[in-house]
This record gives sequence, C-alpha cells and structure tokens, in this order.
Amino acid sequence: MRAAVLHRFGGTDALELHDDWPDPHVGPGDALVEVHACSVGRALDVEARGRGADFHVRLPRILGSDPAGVVRAVGSAVRDFRPGDRVVSTSSLFCGRCEWCRRGDTHACEDHGALGIQRDGGDAELCAVPAGTLAPVPDHVSFVQAAAMGVAYPVSWNLLRHAGRLDAGQDVLVMGAAGGLGIAGVLIARALGAHPIAAVGSPQRMRQCRELLGVQDVVSYADAGWGERVRGLSRDGRGVDVVFENISDPATFDDALSTLRTGGHLVTCGSHGGGTVPLCSQRLYRRNLTVAGRTGASVTMTREVFALVAEGRLQPPPVPHVFPLEEIAAAHEAAAGRGLFNRAVLQIRPEVPPAGRGGPDPPRRQTPA
Ligand SMILES: [Zn+2]
Repeated sequence: MRAAVLHRFGGTDALELHDDWPDPHVGPGDALVEVHACSVGRALDVEARGRGADFHVRLPRILGSDPAGVVRAVGSAVRDFRPGDRVVSTSSLFCGRCEWCRRGDTHACEDHGALGIQRDGGDAELCAVPAGTLAPVPDHVSFVQAAAMGVAYPVSWNLLRHAGRLDAGQDVLVMGAAGGLGIAGVLIARALGAHPIAAVGSPQRMRQCRELLGVQDVVSYADAGWGERVRGLSRDGRGVDVVFENISDPATFDDALSTLRTGGHLVTCGSHGGGTVPLCSQRLYRRNLTVAGRTGASVTMTREVFALVAEGRLQPPPVPHVFPLEEIAAAHEAAAGRGLFNRAVLQIRPEVPPAGRGGPDPPRRQTPA
C-alpha cells in the first residue's frame, strides 16, 4: 500500500512516502479501513513527528489519528461494523479491562493511547483500527469532513455537554473558535440550542468565523476589555454559563474565567497556548465556579454525538485546507503554523459521492494566509 512513514524524529523530511509498504495486520478486534482522508493536527502529528520519543512512539511509524474511509474487512470478534460501512476513527485506544473501561469511561483508561502513536495510523491507503475506536459516518458527510470531526467532535461533546452541562438557552464562550476543537464547540453549542460567542485572536479569524461558521457574536482577545464585551453579549449581561477553554494561554485564561456567571463551568482540553495558567482562587470560590478538564470521550459519548450528526441536528464542519498525501510535508508545515481555519486534512483517495450527495471534494491545496 501507499503510506507516509516516519523513520526518525525530526523535520518534515523525516516523513517518507512509500508505494509498497506492507499492508497492516488485522487483529480479531480490528476493522481494516480503506482510508480516504486523515487530518493533520498539532499534537498527534506535528509534535509526534518532531519529538515522538516523548510520546513513546516506536519507529517506523505511520502517523494519523483519525482516518475516515470504508471498512473493507473485520476481525472475528467485531460485531458493530461490517465491510462497506463508512467510518471514522476517534483516535482513542483503550484496554477494555481496567476499572475505568469496565464502568464505561473508556477515555479515562489506565492504558489510554492514540491511533498513530501507539500503533500505525491513517496516513496510508489502509489502516487497521480497533472497532471500539470507530464511529459511523453518515452519507451526507464527506470523508474529509469526517476526518476533521473524528477527534474534535467527541471531545468537544464530552467537554460541553457532560463536563460543562451546556443546555438550550445558555450562553457559551468558545475560545480558539477557528481551531478544530473550537469549531466543533460552536457547532455543538448551536445544535444544543445554546448561544455561542466565538473568541479568536485576529480580525481575519473573526471574519472567517462569521463567514464560514455563521456565528453572529465574535470577539478578539487581542482587543482590550474583550471579557467585558463577552459578558455584555450574554442574555442578561451577567456572563456566560460555560467557557470552552482549549488553548491554555496565560495571557487570556483569567479574562476567559472572568466572563463566567455565578455557578458557571470552565471546561478545558488542549494547551498549545502554553499550558500553565494563572488561576484566581477567590474568583473560583466566591462565584461558585467549576474548572474541569477532559481527554477524549467514551464510546457512549462518541455514539451520542455522531447520532446528532446522523439526524442532521449537528452540522459537519467547514474544511478549507485539504492536501493530497504526496504533500504531507506541506500539510505538516501548515498545521504547525497558526494560519489554518480548522485542521489540515490529507485526502488519500478521491471522494466517491454516496447517493444523495453532491460532487466529490477535489484535492486542493491551500497554504495558510
Ligand atoms: Zn482500560
């Protein structure tokens, strides 16, 4: 099969394209997926490529945590999927045996891992994926869109709905609203009947949020007094119910916390803004605030969020930056920068439109502005 293989840790030249890499071994619990698209993200792709030893990546390795495509074969123990199914990987690997897995919290597994890190991922024509990691892709969603949803939708759902208890009629501030998690957060908020307020770092991103996501209320955290502006946009001016923090930038964290109304929840995952932030404990206890972090999502949560997509209640995201597999180095360069709107996605096979859908997504290359 064709595959982009990482033979050493380093720059984008450490990724080598092979035309005849051995096909993956399919275990009893695996599905063999014919990959159509796979996203390139910062942590599991760019950072794993550069310093994968810190992630315990063993070489050679095929990166790619969220391949989307068609099931070609399944192992003897797989019951939920069969050949021909359209699927996407949510990346989460779990043992199925530990205390957390037995109670259904597979995202908290003691032996938690990620596809493309602990085992070969989707930057290839074929990928063997544990069936418990897959979610079904509805016909109206392209594989390019599905690849951009595989990791982002389940974790954003876990954070907003489960950790943040976001509900209809509530206000939510979505930080990093032009990134993969942020875009998922805006669309999930809307699907729940909540009011999303998008926060980004530049006028260009404000414009993208309005044009590509259709969000009315957008603020820039580059502007002084932006936190006050957010409170003013909430339904009664008293602040938002939930802050969806996913950047952990010490320069913006406290302002984001300050937008919460009494009893509000700040939920977080992701730390490309730094990771260590100041936290005013008085603000926390005087206003009965909760700060919660989550990684990934359980199998049950993943089913919940993809059911909303299948029902047409939750939109798939816009994906403006698509690269053919041959340009994986350019995709990594783009993902390492800060100019992308949503994740970069590799298109590995041309999209075949299922019945009822429009034309294919042609592979197109776009560099960040
Ligand atoms: Zn486990």
